[in-house]
Amino acid sequence: MARFYSIRFRLTAYFLIIILAVMIIISIFLYSTLERYHMNNFTNTLERSAYLASDFVAGQLRGQVDSVRLSALAENMSRQSQARVIFTDSQGVVVGDSLRVGGMLNQILDQDDLRKALVGEVSFSIVYSETVGHDVMQMAVPVEDADGNLTGTVFLSVSLEEVYRTLFDIRRFLFLATLLAMAIVGGGSIILARRFTGPLEELTLVVKKMAEGKLEQQIVVSSGDEIGRLAEQFNVMARKLNFYTSNLKKFAADVAHEVRTPLTTMSLLTKALKEHEMKPAQRKEFTADLDGELERLIALVNDLLELSKLEKNNIEHQEINLNEFLREVIGENQFRFAQAGLELLENLPAEDLIICGAPMQLRQVIGNLLDNAHNYTPMGGTITVALERIENEAVTSVVDTGCGIPHEDLSFIFERFFRVDRARSREGGGTGLGLAIVSEIISKHGGRVWVESEEGLGSRFIFALPVISETDVTES
Ligand code: ADP
Repeated sequence: MARFYSIRFRLTAYFLIIILAVMIIISIFLYSTLERYHMNNFTNTLERSAYLASDFVAGQLRGQVDSVRLSALAENMSRQSQARVIFTDSQGVVVGDSLRVGGMLNQILDQDDLRKALVGEVSFSIVYSETVGHDVMQMAVPVEDADGNLTGTVFLSVSLEEVYRTLFDIRRFLFLATLLAMAIVGGGSIILARRFTGPLEELTLVVKKMAEGKLEQQIVVSSGDEIGRLAEQFNVMARKLNFYTSNLKKFAADVAHEVRTPLTTMSLLTKALKEHEMKPAQRKEFTADLDGELERLIALVNDLLELSKLEKNNIEHQEINLNEFLREVIGENQFRFAQAGLELLENLPAEDLIICGAPMQLRQVIGNLLDNAHNYTPMGGTITVALERIENEAVTSVVDTGCGIPHEDLSFIFERFFRVDRARSREGGGTGLGLAIVSEIISKHGGRVWVESEEGLGSRFIFALPVISETDVTES
């Protein structure tokens, strides 16, 4: 049943119906024109023959008529025109007949066309002839003498078999032409439909495989038409889907791995606390470790929640004076940095730079970058937060004099759970998600973030956000 709904079947059926309709219209038009032409031609020829005969016998139907001579004349004419030739006098009595045996000599020809000819009209009709067994055309013309007096008639009767045979041949030709056209169009449309629907069938097969979970599917694009473009877009979609799915799998595995470490430590600590007698000081130490692991787990879950929130929600933006904003955040962090023996400096421009953003999230960006600078810069180091306008962007950088990042790791630094030194990150309470969150927030703000670093010398994390022009600010 599905085959009847297929594009291939329908396309072929539509083409066949269209060509059939076209051929029927052409055939009807062509046939009626040819039929009219042949019948007119036939009638005209017959009329010419009748007038010729009429001229010929005009003088012979007056007074005493010679039936034998007239019949011989009629027979002679009949041989040339293939028609039965009859001459009558002005009363409609047959005075000459080309049919010798069974003819109508001396009988009154009681016939409509003849009656009309006897009153001076030319008349013709098509009737079925019992004698010959098919249609014949009859024609009667008046015969007049030199003075214009009606002296008799010429009556011709000729078989239409020849004309009918020609018309039948035309009908047969048109029928065969229609069949041939349908065969060509049918065959052509099957080939065409196969060419067009072949790639769609391949696409269906590939989509089916994808639905079964085999995501590494690609289609060979062989044309640049709409179907080729569809296949191309499908390949892009399949690649992306495959990429996102494997990313998601990797992410789930990474999360499980990250959660497992603190949970294992916590389990060991709890067992030790439960099963061993301990001095209060040792118990306190174990409990503090347990607390530390718990804190790490909470931080990890919070960061994961933050990331998933970022993926889901659109940020509600507001105007932010970045100079004031940075000054405030730096002020809040001064004490913490001083305690760690670090110097936190600011290098902000005199000109106010206004950007559009979500304050809470930008606070998290600066917070994460400052946390990292704090964690990866040894005592006595300096961290500088700088802001400058470069063309239409407000460029903020957090520069430290810390351990720096190896060159080969720089391109992975914003990936989830990537750490250069896992143990050190853990020590500093890192989750490996801080920079991924930074990258996500900045891209949601339509900005860019990147890093420059020299191992052993320090790092510079930079993010650029579009500045709102003064006209934008006054308008709003
Ligand atoms: P983490 O929670 O481990 O700090 P991040 O995503 O914030 O995770 O950072 C990823 C890794 O990048 C860190 O583990 C660290 O190795 C490296 N990194 C980040 N910031 C700095 C920095 N200022 N100096 C040196 N290394 C850094």
